[in-house]
Amino acid sequence: MRLDAAMNLKMGGTDIALDGCGRANCFVSHAHSDHVSALRSSGKSILASEETLALAGHSGDISHFKCDGVKVKLLNSGHILGSKQLRAECNGESFLYTGDFKLHDSLTMKGAEVENCDVLLMESTYGSPEMVFPERDFVYSCMARWVRSNLERGAIVMLGGYSIGKAQELVKLANEYLGIAPVVESNIEKACSVYEKFGTKLDRIPVRTDEAEEIMKHEFLSIVTPPSASRSFCSKLEGIYNRKVVCAVASGWALRFAYSADRAFPLSDHADFNQLIEYAERSSPKRIYCTHGETIRLASELRKRGYDAKELSKASQMTLEEFSEGD
Ligand SMILES: [Zn+2]
Repeated sequence: MRLDAAMNLKMGGTDIALDGCGRANCFVSHAHSDHVSALRSSGKSILASEETLALAGHSGDISHFKCDGVKVKLLNSGHILGSKQLRAECNGESFLYTGDFKLHDSLTMKGAEVENCDVLLMESTYGSPEMVFPERDFVYSCMARWVRSNLERGAIVMLGGYSIGKAQELVKLANEYLGIAPVVESNIEKACSVYEKFGTKLDRIPVRTDEAEEIMKHEFLSIVTPPSASRSFCSKLEGIYNRKVVCAVASGWALRFAYSADRAFPLSDHADFNQLIEYAERSSPKRIYCTHGETIRLASELRKRGYDAKELSKASQMTLEEFSEGD
């Protein structure tokens, strides 16, 4: 087994680029733009879920890769529709790459599956101990209360979240907690239609339709991407609609950063610090590599808890021999 700093895994006779395009065989964990470079490169053999290919707008033929003596399995990562972890096993050694994940269920996703592994490569987005989110149900209730009270005051309400994953959860929140079909931006509508194709019902009204035009004559709720959920944009809208416009952002970073919005709610599709630690406990790896985000901090926190953990960097190139010697 060998894993390099660019996240290329070699196991048995198989080389796999993990969320990259540096090898002929590429695993694409999910459809967010920083993970799909392999789908934009030609001549690659791809391993990705059908949902990921649909969300990424990949309609061409896919050449699936063959694994030489390696047992490869995809597990739900609980991040967005179709997001997967990769588990590979060869000669009695197992490796698991989480990709972006969260352990808890959301309104649109089941939480991640966890399996044992010898070597774990895990995302570290919220790898600092202070990044602990409140209960998800509590956040939903707070958001719903805030939206309702503003609509009752006759305001236009803009809720911001990234277009694939978060926005669909916000639509579901509007449906289930408020009984409202929100107006959605065009790029959000595109991803909503893929969610629906794969079985998640989302009651919404695409912008620039007659129905949306009618609704937008009164107070309404709109699900937008984060740039539109800003005070400066809302002020412009207030000039156009001659009505109060309020906005909120839904992001885990609401715990750390101030947004130029009326409110920011800590709703994330990533594991918080406690979930990252829980994942390590449940998968009982012999070695952990941290990637994406607060890698140095998370690796140090894992070491404090007795794990052989380090950030994935050039210094942490690893071979099976080194791995075995290290035990
Ligand atoms: Zn992601």
